[in-house]
Amino acid sequence: MKKNNELNQPKVQNLVIIGSGPAGFTAAIYAARAKLRPLLITGFEKGGIPGGQLMTTTHVENYPGFPDGVLGPELMDLMKAQAIRWGTELIEADAERVNLGIQPFEVEAEKKLIKTNSLIIATGASANRLNLPGENLLWSKGISACAICDGATPQLRGEELAVVGGGDSACEEAVYLTKFGSHVHLIVRSKKLRASGSMADRVLANSQISIHWNSEVIKAEGDDWLTSINVLDRETSKTNQLKIKGLFYAIGHTPNTDLFKEQLDLAESEYIKTALGRPETSVEGVFAAGDVSDSEWRQGITAAGSGCKAALAAERWLTAKNLAVIIESNQLEPERAKMPLKIETTTEKNYSANSLWQKGNYPLRRLYHESNRPILVIYTSPECGPCHVLKPQLRRILEDFKGEVQGVEIDIEADTQIARQALIKGTPTVQLFLNKELKKEWRGVKQRSEFKDFINNIIETKTR
Ligand SMILES: Cc1cc2nc3c(=O)[nH]c(=O)nc-3n(C[C@H](O)[C@H](O)[C@H](O)COP(=O)(O)OP(=O)(O)OC[C@H]3O[C@@H](n4cnc5c(N)ncnc54)[C@H](O)[C@@H]3O)c2cc1C
Repeated sequence: MKKNNELNQPKVQNLVIIGSGPAGFTAAIYAARAKLRPLLITGFEKGGIPGGQLMTTTHVENYPGFPDGVLGPELMDLMKAQAIRWGTELIEADAERVNLGIQPFEVEAEKKLIKTNSLIIATGASANRLNLPGENLLWSKGISACAICDGATPQLRGEELAVVGGGDSACEEAVYLTKFGSHVHLIVRSKKLRASGSMADRVLANSQISIHWNSEVIKAEGDDWLTSINVLDRETSKTNQLKIKGLFYAIGHTPNTDLFKEQLDLAESEYIKTALGRPETSVEGVFAAGDVSDSEWRQGITAAGSGCKAALAAERWLTAKNLAVIIESNQLEPERAKMPLKIETTTEKNYSANSLWQKGNYPLRRLYHESNRPILVIYTSPECGPCHVLKPQLRRILEDFKGEVQGVEIDIEADTQIARQALIKGTPTVQLFLNKELKKEWRGVKQRSEFKDFINNIIETKTR
């Protein structure tokens, strides 16, 4: 086994992991503890945000170790901190190209070519959505793609609920939801169920479920929470409003496997094929973990478990091929994990005209009226996963500009009036002000370069 000290990085990585959901981070924790110094490409936009699907949900009540539940984004922050603590290196970008036809394998991200002796693919899968009017606003506020995850939410207890789909998952979810809701509407596009006979029989025999044949949901309504859906009868073209508090999609998942087509064996459903119950793919040295290779279980804990298997398998493979380069750390025990900074609301007492990043309406009002520097205002809400992703990115931008630009965070739940005045429709939203003028607004998670290019332009114009 080869050895390397800390300063002597190998040109070829031991292990690259693509994806930062529970599968990717668990693989990273195991590989980092095995002194392989894995490089993890988190993903950014293409196949979901860094942290994966759990960043898009609120309470996770079934992940072991959290008896009172944990917020999805907080769980992912913890996994990330643990992976970094043991020496995982991160690239916060999408992997754009891979070449699995040569050894070492090649991966391209952030326009850099990375060579690696082994690879773990943990790019996850995305639940298919209907893209209804009202869907984005009500996502995780009554609309969900996971009945097992969100069915027991208190807001749904004793209420009417609906499931969209006609296959096994839809039927299973409809039956499952009868435990919580007073009645379940199953919305089926065709005249029959595609589910297996026994599953269909269970639905048909259940008096708590009514099936709407030849029907499709065309609109979701609600303000803070879903209150109703409009259902179109495709035969009669009549629209019927259903007053429901929960709408669950069971219309399939799309695995994030575009990058690997024609390089790895994929199933018809486009999930990566692996050895039965194991992480090995059709290419030696390439392993798959989590939802990307699991069309059946798709849970945080199953993804984490398979990430562990993939890391152990990669380590064994690298050792057997005499490719593992052990990277020793100078420290016996790593330092304690660093969690994301939580900043307190700024008041008159702790306000500073030169602070890089402050929070709340007080610093916003002061800087808006008194500062001649560009002000980046990020509107967040406490349970918004994409906000967790964007905040550290913006902080890095502010640090790069060394005080030439200042940041203010507005929690739209605490500062509703400000959010209303700023016409904020969702979080995260970022607005850039200069001399009391709104120069630009961005919605959702964007690449750092997009913000930086715009700010550079503004600063150049200002100094001209
Ligand atoms: C709304 C919702 C609620 C849920 N609630 C629960 C729950 O309560 N409990 C539970 O156990 N499970 C829950 N799940 C399921 C759970 O989130 C998934 O099973 C789990 O996240 C799968 O983990 P993963 O690591 O395989 O993939 P994901 O979490 O999907 O992560 C995939 C990662 O790959 C990255 N990626 C994709 N393409 C690329 C690329 N080209 N380059 C680099 N990176 C890329 C993405 O950015 C992401 O970081 C829920 C799912 C949803 C959608």
